[in-house]
Amino acid sequence: MSSEIKAFVSQRTVLDDEVSPAIVVVLNEKIHEVICGDINEKIKHVKNKYSGIIIEDFGSNVLMPGLVDSHVHIDDPGRTQWEEFKTATKAAAAGGVTTIIDMPLNSIPPTTTVDNLKVKIKSAEGNVFVDVGFWGGVVPGNTNELKKMVEAGVVGFKCFLIPSGTEEFKHVTLPEVEEALRELQTTSAVLAFHAELEDKVSVEGMDPTLYKTFLHSRPSSMEVRAIEAVSSLCKKYNVRCHIVHLSASEALDIVSEAKKNNVPLTAETCYHYLTIIDDEIPNCDTRFKCCPPIRSKENREKLWKALENGVLDMIVSDHSPCTQDLKSNNFIDAWGGISSLQFGLPIIWTEAQRREINICKIARYISTNPANLCGLGKIKGRIYPGMDADFVVWDPESQLMVQKADILYKNKISPYEGKIFNGRVVSTILRGKFIYKNGRIAENSNGKLILNKPYS
Ligand SMILES: [Zn+2]
Repeated sequence: MSSEIKAFVSQRTVLDDEVSPAIVVVLNEKIHEVICGDINEKIKHVKNKYSGIIIEDFGSNVLMPGLVDSHVHIDDPGRTQWEEFKTATKAAAAGGVTTIIDMPLNSIPPTTTVDNLKVKIKSAEGNVFVDVGFWGGVVPGNTNELKKMVEAGVVGFKCFLIPSGTEEFKHVTLPEVEEALRELQTTSAVLAFHAELEDKVSVEGMDPTLYKTFLHSRPSSMEVRAIEAVSSLCKKYNVRCHIVHLSASEALDIVSEAKKNNVPLTAETCYHYLTIIDDEIPNCDTRFKCCPPIRSKENREKLWKALENGVLDMIVSDHSPCTQDLKSNNFIDAWGGISSLQFGLPIIWTEAQRREINICKIARYISTNPANLCGLGKIKGRIYPGMDADFVVWDPESQLMVQKADILYKNKISPYEGKIFNGRVVSTILRGKFIYKNGRIAENSNGKLILNKPYS
């Protein structure tokens, strides 16, 4: 470990509750000191105090905590034609994301046992450009593995209440969920849910190339019923539960009610639910297919309100790539998943500006709160002494067009292609080192695997 001391300086540093001129002193990969106020005056003092300090001055570009994306599918090993650690973490670095947490499914094997976690770790080691943590999976019959996986360092668990789309990751019934919750009661692990319950909706005779056919096949009632069930089990067992990718605004009252009653329930939504609306999705264009689906304009506005009210806690990508051949023009058969790991910040900033939501709140939604969810709140997601020196430097006033040529994740498929967003990532810094600068990714993979008992 180097004892090199650096100062990262910006006129717009995003602290917990304010954007302020600040000097962030970094020593041994951690934030050592945060000095606010008149930078010109105080930098002299800093230079005197720390001899040999390297000053990185970003001027008026925003210095913010690096993004923590707690919902990313890296399909490595087993489905590396979809995504790999190398490509996904390079895309993350270019997007200002300094920590990602890998979902337990879509790789083969899925992360449902300690042995499988070891296989994952082997694939990741030496290939990650940002820090990477792992979710474990709850599937039928693996209750005995859960505590061992907690010991081995997973940040929590994820399960499905409906078929997951992959054969090797089976969904669980509600009694099986109860079994898992009982097992997790003595840990501080969180159980995350793909919260949709099967509904008998038929699309027979409907045109599968129309988006509205797909929307009809996944009504919001599927989410509402699942979230009701999760909320009541969360209350019963008092184990932290989390709803991933909440799309249906009709379910927000259930989450709100649970929170009012101190039930340990949290919920996330995704970039796409907060930006895209059903009316804008072209027929045949399955780049826009994800589960649960993107819904109406009115629904989108309710999700934004829920973020502002604290009913929704965070925004994540649910980066869920696949190969081109699985994105046919048939909405019923195509793979459900949207890739956006690299572009989350400009996507969300553009929409936030329209609603006059400030940068501090955005940082909470995309960094602080996902870090807290994964038990990483003491090391990631804030600019504060003692935290890892993970930053994104970005220019809110410049624009970015999403173009295939710039995409670093493996399959260059994006529903945002050709769209112009406000905000451009200038640099990304991981534990004090530049991992992205001037449009280039660092040559060496400096990411770490987060496995050291993240709850403590
Ligand atoms: Zn997902």
